[in-house]
Amino acid sequence: MLKCKLCGCSLEEKDALVHKNQQGEQEIICRACFEKAAGIDYETFAFRKENAKQTLFAVLLCLGATVYAFVEKGPLYGVAGIVLTILIYFFASKAK
Ligand SMILES: [Zn+2]
Repeated sequence: MLKCKLCGCSLEEKDALVHKNQQGEQEIICRACFEKAAGIDYETFAFRKENAKQTLFAVLLCLGATVYAFVEKGPLYGVAGIVLTILIYFFASKAK
């Protein structure tokens, strides 16, 4: 059984969250304290993190395709790929 560092309540291992405090030390805290410390609830936090990961993946995939197009099809396709990558990045960050 773990204990929340901030409020002292008992935590199930699956509910325990690791939070970095302002001194950069890691603390084990509960969800309620996480919400207070981070200013957002954990679901929103996890969702944003997941979203950012997906955006990064999509952009990397596009960059890979761009390099491939540039090498295989010529500079014009490469430029089109770059434009597409920027568009995807732009829309993905706007969707949040
Ligand atoms: Zn707590």
